[in-house]
Amino acid sequence: MNKFSVIIFLMLLQGVAIAQKSESILLKNATIIDGDASVKPYKGFLLIKDGYIQSVTTTAPKVANAKVIDCTGKFITPGLMDAHIHLATADLTDPKKARLSTDSITGNMLRHGITTLRDMAGNAPYLANYKKDVQSGKVLGPDVFYAAQFAGPGYFAMMANGRKGEEDLGHTAWYCAIKTKSDVKPAIANAKKAGVTGIKIYANLSKELIREITNEAHKQGLLAWAHGAIFPSKPMDVAQSGVNSMSHANDLVFQQIKGDTIEIGAAWAQLYKGLKLDSNMRDKMLLEMKKHGTFLDPTVFHAENNKMFNAALITRRAHQLGVKIVAGTDWIYPEKDEAVPLLDEMNLLVSKCGMNNLEAIQAATLNAAEVTGLKDRGVIRKGKRADLLLLDADPSITLNALFKPLVVFKAGKRVFTATEAR
Ligand SMILES: [Zn+2]
Repeated sequence: MNKFSVIIFLMLLQGVAIAQKSESILLKNATIIDGDASVKPYKGFLLIKDGYIQSVTTTAPKVANAKVIDCTGKFITPGLMDAHIHLATADLTDPKKARLSTDSITGNMLRHGITTLRDMAGNAPYLANYKKDVQSGKVLGPDVFYAAQFAGPGYFAMMANGRKGEEDLGHTAWYCAIKTKSDVKPAIANAKKAGVTGIKIYANLSKELIREITNEAHKQGLLAWAHGAIFPSKPMDVAQSGVNSMSHANDLVFQQIKGDTIEIGAAWAQLYKGLKLDSNMRDKMLLEMKKHGTFLDPTVFHAENNKMFNAALITRRAHQLGVKIVAGTDWIYPEKDEAVPLLDEMNLLVSKCGMNNLEAIQAATLNAAEVTGLKDRGVIRKGKRADLLLLDADPSITLNALFKPLVVFKAGKRVFTATEAR
């Protein structure tokens, strides 16, 4: 190494040191919306240091060398989360092209206040790559936590050729066919190696296998995320297996169909003929979920778009009975700077499912973090990651405000600043 390159190297090192030692930021006088709806919004001071919330206080903390931002008249909430998306189910035959599209989608999510995602099945290596690039700062986007999809072999046979760029559907760690109990343990170990956070228990599985997958996932430190109905098993079988979450409120109606098992085609045919919601059966189902602490991600927007109006009715009752509701869309996100479907989902939780705005915010922050097993985010408390939105309108009055943030902080760094706040 010559003298010149030594100097360059020292300069580089210094640059790294400066980049790593992040400054403290004091957000002064904002109205803080905690994420837990039972905490009333309050005026406070929020100190960010090294990516985390160092303190949240109602009086000014003593702090030297902090960058102070006066937030009088402004609001702070936790970063939002969409707890049901699919980033990696599109055509992956040209991974570079696919990735360009993903990066514009996730960039747009971030500008709209979404800082974390629960991906409910897709190509795991693709998602692992995205996750790595976000963690290293190579791309700006929400953190992603993803699932491996488990189903009976019949499901994957039916899906053959339905996933472009997936060579071996049913035989990969992330799209995995389960035939017998002995398949479960190695399949979960493989999924874990592929970096998943949970197993998506999807279709064509007996109640015995659902239970086996759930128990083994928990044993190996993973979560179990199921669909509401996993034909031929009934929704009650799913709830009784102790899964962490059940998706799609509309699915719960299939409990009404007679018999120990249900056939998928016949069940949907009956629904389309106009299956009337039985309130007794509905409550039994929901109370079973409540007993197990099972989260419901109802995907109401998805359901309404498909004219499945039972979803909102079931979600409304679930919320009344104390089942924990999670905001997730299972919907397409735009690449360009357009509104995001999470707003539609949250608006429906309020307009049709009996929640107030703070409860809808909890569904997209605290509950979404909990269902993903994330203890480091979702509420504005000391020690949590500083994933925060600074807003200039009150989201307890209009949820719209959440999706037009002035500033988005992710792990304490400003990752987006609106033109008017620059
Ligand atoms: Zn889904």
